[in-house]
Amino acid sequence: MKRYIDAIIFDLDGVVTDTAEYHYLAWKQLADEEGIPFTREENENLRGVSRRKSLETLLKGHHVSEEKMQTLMARKNQMYLNLLKNVNNGGLLPGVKALLDDLQNKGIKIAIASASRNTQQVIDRLGIRGQLDVIADGNAVQRPKPAPDIFLYAAQRLNLPPARCLVVEDAASGVQAAQEAGMVVVGIGPQERVGQADMVLPSLEGIQSDDLARAATWRVSEPVFDPARQNMYETIFTQGNGYLGTRGSFEERYPGDIQATLVHGLWDNAPVVFTELVNIPDWTSFDLWVNDKKFRMDRGIVSHYTRYLDLRSGVLHRSLFWQAAPDTPNLHLIFERFPSMADPHIMLLRVRIIPVDGPCTIEGRAMLDSQVHNDGLKHIEILDQQSDETQADLLIHTRYTKHKVGMSMNLAYQGNNVKPLVCNCRGCPGAGFITQLNQDEQLTIDKIVSVYTSRDAIDPLKNARERANLAIQKGIQQLLAQNRQKWDDFWKISDVKIFGDDEAQIAIRHALFQLRIAASEIDDHVSIGAKTLSGFAYRGHVFWDNEIFVLPFFTFTQPQLAHNLLMYRWHTLPGARKNAAKNNFMGAQFPWESAENGDEVTPKWVPNSETPRDLIRIWTGDIEIHITADVAYAIYQYWHASGDEDFWINYGIPIILETAVFWGERVEPDGNRFTIRDVIGPDEYHEHVDNNVFTNYMVRWHLQTALDTLSWLETHNEHKALQLRTRLELTSERLVRWQKIIDNIIILQDPDSGLFEQFDGFFKLREVDWSAYVNATKSMQTLLGIDGANQHQVLKQADVILLLCLFRDRFNQSTWKVNWDYYNSRTDHNYGSSLSPAIHAWAACEIGQIDAAYVQFMRAARADLDDIRGNARDGIHAASAGGLWQALIFGFAGVKIREYGPTINPHFPSHWQRVQFNLVYRGKLYPFDIHNKKPPVPMKRLATGGTTFPSEG
Ligand code: BGC
Repeated sequence: MKRYIDAIIFDLDGVVTDTAEYHYLAWKQLADEEGIPFTREENENLRGVSRRKSLETLLKGHHVSEEKMQTLMARKNQMYLNLLKNVNNGGLLPGVKALLDDLQNKGIKIAIASASRNTQQVIDRLGIRGQLDVIADGNAVQRPKPAPDIFLYAAQRLNLPPARCLVVEDAASGVQAAQEAGMVVVGIGPQERVGQADMVLPSLEGIQSDDLARAATWRVSEPVFDPARQNMYETIFTQGNGYLGTRGSFEERYPGDIQATLVHGLWDNAPVVFTELVNIPDWTSFDLWVNDKKFRMDRGIVSHYTRYLDLRSGVLHRSLFWQAAPDTPNLHLIFERFPSMADPHIMLLRVRIIPVDGPCTIEGRAMLDSQVHNDGLKHIEILDQQSDETQADLLIHTRYTKHKVGMSMNLAYQGNNVKPLVCNCRGCPGAGFITQLNQDEQLTIDKIVSVYTSRDAIDPLKNARERANLAIQKGIQQLLAQNRQKWDDFWKISDVKIFGDDEAQIAIRHALFQLRIAASEIDDHVSIGAKTLSGFAYRGHVFWDNEIFVLPFFTFTQPQLAHNLLMYRWHTLPGARKNAAKNNFMGAQFPWESAENGDEVTPKWVPNSETPRDLIRIWTGDIEIHITADVAYAIYQYWHASGDEDFWINYGIPIILETAVFWGERVEPDGNRFTIRDVIGPDEYHEHVDNNVFTNYMVRWHLQTALDTLSWLETHNEHKALQLRTRLELTSERLVRWQKIIDNIIILQDPDSGLFEQFDGFFKLREVDWSAYVNATKSMQTLLGIDGANQHQVLKQADVILLLCLFRDRFNQSTWKVNWDYYNSRTDHNYGSSLSPAIHAWAACEIGQIDAAYVQFMRAARADLDDIRGNARDGIHAASAGGLWQALIFGFAGVKIREYGPTINPHFPSHWQRVQFNLVYRGKLYPFDIHNKKPPVPMKRLATGGTTFPSEG
């Protein structure tokens, strides 16, 4: 089981033992003796605070001499030490002993980090010294909490990066210190005190290591800065808000990075791929100089580095200490940034700088950097720019499509004597500053950027400027809070909890996070591309990935977003009509790759990745036609799940019918049967095949649905039905032909065994000698060649098996089994299509092979987070992310959608303890909380007779 936490660092007082109570009693005694009123409530402010600070608080602003301070502190300490004499092993707070034993058994390191200078004595009295790997007390560091030093010191002594440590704290200052250290933190105590922690518990009673580790399942972390893995982290740290997506490149930029901010709907012409989403100027750009030395992590000394994406709030955090050289001051740098989920036109970057061991000069520059490109291709031209000391504007347009983008930036500081500087380099308007910082003096810089395009405003720059000004007036705290609220609303409905498997838990949350930031709430003319807004691969083009893999998650948890995504197909119908007409058909044919207007934008020729001088003909845009039925499937699924009659009548049914018209023409008669020749099915290793079962079956379903839908409409809205009949020329001859096709289309299936033949002649193809490829690290198509793969029974991805999943109730177990056995073993699971593993996981659940399902599930889970295909750098595998949700819900949880609501039939991996999720069905929320039963006692079949008995072993 993958572990994300290697050490737990406990605060002492109030967490491990209740010396907090002794502290209170000692302060109280001192206060009483001095005649100062002091209550238990006031004592709450003293938690985790140094002795001097505590005394100052207790004195409530009364000035006393330094000498008197010293005496009072010494008296309090003596009283405290006297009380400590009562401490022994029984002084451990409830649950602590068992937790320490559990951590030790699991090999998780344990540290104590406490500001108390009496830590060592207390630990000895408690008798736990033998269980501790590190003790960091008040003498270890100079700066007390809320500075992060004590936790960083403990991590360093444990020889672990901060990201692998979890802090347990009971004081607000300790929670803050742990967060400044970039660590996961569990707060013990009331919400009001430790509510900022990743997880809040009333006490450690009954808590085990696994419970604590769950606090780390809301983040994806990069524990060390590794330049070689940056492109992958850029992808998995992509942030967004449904309007735009920004890859996780560093603000100061590095050679070889693939920096990008892609805005939905902002297309520009490009060679080969026709059109692509434009990389707009970089809003994150921020450069820093310390005593004239440029901050770069590949120079100087980096320590205590951590970076993580907080999935709960969408904020990307980076914390590190940096020294330009051994003899220059050490700085603590904290970067936090997010595109606001609450206001999609607003982005925020906050940088905090704290010199920790001496004064220094800091110079900074925040810009709107238009030195950006799409994989080398520049799409933008600058129309206007301006900047002053705290504000900058940039107006650009796209080269061919002439979409305008207006960006406006405001810079605000919290710090003393900050001198603003103007910087207005060509193409990079910005604002800068210079200041002297003393040791421990914090400078906070907030960069707020607003973006509008001519797609959403007549004067995008004006809108951006107004919005940025408004945002700065609102203040960062409000922006943060609104963003957080919006994310809370999303997770309240769409989160999936898996107890007992932190890797699966993080993976599903990350997948859902990435899907959410790709779906627009405000624009129904855009859809989710195969790589979301997270990379240049597939150029932002939209495939069937969206309808078959991604949409069900939205349909069943965020129907409004599903609605928008489906409306994209409505708005691109003109292109689909053009495609059909171009191929000499009536009706509408959705393009295999779709962009702005539904025109086919699949490139015809691309360079071979192995030998780039050779061009490869891409046939999918010509003949991978099942996409049209896939769209109809998603529309029907949405209608069935949402009951959204307005959509169904005005958009859904018209699309289903108009695309059915296309099928009616595309299907050819073949004697008294019907055939579909020359296609590519989901398995793209085989081109120019006839009667691909997936395609034919989907077409049959589509035509049947069209007929059923039309008669439904005739009874529900006769007028609309008549309108459509007329507009689409739905003559009775046409409808009769549809029925004939439905009755006679070729579906290649052995009537006895139920085995489908993927397409005409598939069974006659050569078998692959799989034993020769066990250690292969490339796709089977690369290894066998394009023609070679065409001639073998090897699948790039689920084809027949996907069909079974989509129509699962129609097939009996033996049909499931025979097809699973045949096609699963012939699929290129490792390096074929990333769309496949999640579907195989779902299918394996249908036939009760839970172990096999788990292997496939984790293969999908690791596609991006572990980069197991080696291509995460190119962008998020959106279909795999959506498939992961379906594998969990429809596969493991066995959800079926009945007329009266969702039902379940769970079969979880044995180590999963509990799974929770919600489904939205016809406007109603259905919460599920499923406890996994222990695996059944294995049954042993007796040799004689059929009775079964529980086995002994
Ligand atoms: C897969 C297609 C998919 C496309 C985009 C291809 O490799 O075979 O099914 O639509 O990638 O993700």
